Formats: sequence, C-alpha cells, structure tokens
Amino acid sequence: MIPFFPPDVFAADREELLEIVHTVGTDPDQRFILGRRTAAFEDELRLRLGAAEVVACSSGTSALSLVLTAMGVGPGDEVVVPALGCAPLAASVCGLGAVPVFADIDPWRLVADPVSAEAAVTDRTRALMPAHLFSVMADMPRFADIARRRGLRLVEDSAVAQGGVLGGRPAGLWGEAGVFSFVQVKTFGTAGEGGAVVTGDPELGRAVRMLRNHGQNGAQRFVHHRVGYNSRFDEILAAFQLHRLPGLPDRLERRARIADYYTGRFAELGEHGVVAPPPGREGRCFYVYTLLAERRDGLRAHLARAGVGSHVYYPSPLPHQPAFTSCAPPGARWPNAESAARRILSIPLYPHLSDAQVEHIADSVCAFARSSRRATPAPGRRTT
Ligand SMILES: *Cc1c(COP(=O)(O)O)cnc(C)c1O
Repeated sequence: MIPFFPPDVFAADREELLEIVHTVGTDPDQRFILGRRTAAFEDELRLRLGAAEVVACSSGTSALSLVLTAMGVGPGDEVVVPALGCAPLAASVCGLGAVPVFADIDPWRLVADPVSAEAAVTDRTRALMPAHLFSVMADMPRFADIARRRGLRLVEDSAVAQGGVLGGRPAGLWGEAGVFSFVQVKTFGTAGEGGAVVTGDPELGRAVRMLRNHGQNGAQRFVHHRVGYNSRFDEILAAFQLHRLPGLPDRLERRARIADYYTGRFAELGEHGVVAPPPGREGRCFYVYTLLAERRDGLRAHLARAGVGSHVYYPSPLPHQPAFTSCAPPGARWPNAESAARRILSIPLYPHLSDAQVEHIADSVCAFARSSRRATPAPGRRTT
C-alpha cells in the first residue's frame, strides 16, 4: 500500500529529534518557547526568503489570525477569500467578528479567480486573502493590482507554498504578509504544530511579534500594548526545523520532479475525463498533486484496489460548510468551486516515494482513465 499521508516522513531524523529533545531538555536555560533556537530559526528563514521579518508562531491558522489582527480587521469588515479551500481561510476572518466573502475559483487552476474576487468587493471590504492551494499559486500580480486600485490590504495564504516562486518573487512576499504552516503533513512540516508570518513590512512584522505573545513587546514583560494571543513557538521544534531546513530545497525539487512526471503521463487523459493540473514550475508549489476526474469516486476505488491511497480535499466549498453557511448570501452559487469539489482527487506526492511507486501510481491512473472510455461508448454505437 502506498499511503497518501506517509507515516515515515521523519524516519531519517529520529536520532536527531531524540538528541534535540535531550539537549533542550537538559539545557541549563530551561527555555522551551521563544528562546534562542526560535530566534535562529526565524533568522534563517528570513535570510533565505529575503523577508524583512519572519515571526514563528503556533500554527498556520494562528498566523492568519495574527496578520488580520495586526491589520485591524474586525467587526463590520469583509475579507474576500476563495470559495474552495481550507477552513482557516474563513474561520480566521469570522474569529475577528468580520465576514468572509467567498470568491469563485478558476476552473482549472482551482485558486481564487481575480475577476470573481474583485466582483465581491464592497465598501466594507478591508482585505483580499487569496490562497495558494493544491499545486498552484494564486494570480498574485492581479490580486496586488486589485488591492492597489481598490485600496485594500493583501494577505497571502501561502501556508503550503513555501519554496514557490512567481515572477521571481517567493510565495509569502507577494502579500503585505504571508504565512507558512509547519503542521506535520505540509511540505516543511514538523513533528508537531507550528507556523510563521513572513512580511516585507517591518512595522507589520513588529505588530505580529507583539500579538504572538499577548501584546507584549519582547523587552518588557507584563506591559500589554494590544489584546494579543498565545501563539508562541516551541524550542524543540525550532531546533528540529533548523536541522531539516538545509534539506528542504532537495525535497521540494523531488516533489516537483514527481509532479512533472505525473503531468507528462496524464497529458493525454483529458478526453478520458481526467484532467491534470497546469504544467511547469512557474508559480507552482508541489504540496499536493490534484486531479479533476469526472468519475472521481470510481478512480478513488480503482486506486485503492491498486494499493494507492488518495484524498479528497476539499469535498465541499467553504460556503456550503455548516460553520460558514450563515456568511453566504442565500441562493448564491460558486459554480466552479462546486464542480471542482465533485471531481477533485489528490494522489500521493512526497519526496521519499520511489520511482517505481511513482510509476505504479501513474500507471494506475492511466489504466482507469483509458478503461472509462471503453465503458462509455460513443453515442449510437452498440456494445456487445
Ligand atoms: C494547512 C493550511 C492552513 C493552516 O495551517 P495549520 O498550521 O494547519 O493551522 C492554512 N491555509 C492553508 C491553505 C493550508 O493548507
């Protein structure tokens, strides 16, 4: 069986992780959060990315809340988010008493469609929050243009896009602020939870840093400048991420190569009802590899029989989720998001897949697609 979420992501790092636990646990400092290891990790990310500020925090979700709070988003405000994506996109907005307004997605790229996003802007809109999802970065030049023209803040949900580059600019630095998620399954996942806010704006970075630790500034404890959060970062995970960081570019490259191979193999499957994501490396982030399949559930069952795990995310557009229906105008539709949610299927994509496993996965998808053509003969032809 080739699992969709592999259990052995950190198998090669086990000794190192135990060593780190021991080192941090026996360090005379006895500092387990926001210590020198967190600071070194933030510095390393900042230098590699060319950001003004990187603030490590407790999760990608929390990173979004910190950014929206720092920008002053609150009751009465609207934030435009994609109609298909993960819950934090809407929940982080609702959590501040603001309203998420859902933009439809591009039918193939599956990220927020800038035209639909701009159409959703009202005089209450404070911010645009496109997300890079699946393996495609949102069209950030166009979102930046809309934000500039309409006087809106721009938050970039780059939680899964670490390492992606669009027009020479890294994911995370297109928005006034971007975020990363280090939850286990993400491309720079860790042995637990974590996230980061990245920004080219030092002032926004300072505000986020303060909000991360109850609105205090680092120099002076128990003076609370703003109502903040507990979103601090763990020293053991900071050391572990510092250990894992040098290997990240190679792991991302391996993911990209697997995606290139899949896309090459699947190029001809469109007429068989299986559509591969857009090819190439520009503006791409290879967190998951997502197909659009007319007979999605059939493909999923076929892959399971072939020993290949797959995953449906997201099975329904955000405004159809019970938690968020109250935010959606009655009767509103998001045709592209609804259609994609019915057809979407992600197949395994991780660096330690062997070439043979990758071939087997591709063979299995191709076999299903080609057989489904035979299963639906052209109109007028008799089956025997
Ligand atoms: C995973 C994810 C998040 C949330 O990150 P957590 O670390 O799980 O809180 C936010 N946005 C997107 C697009 C994600 O994929």
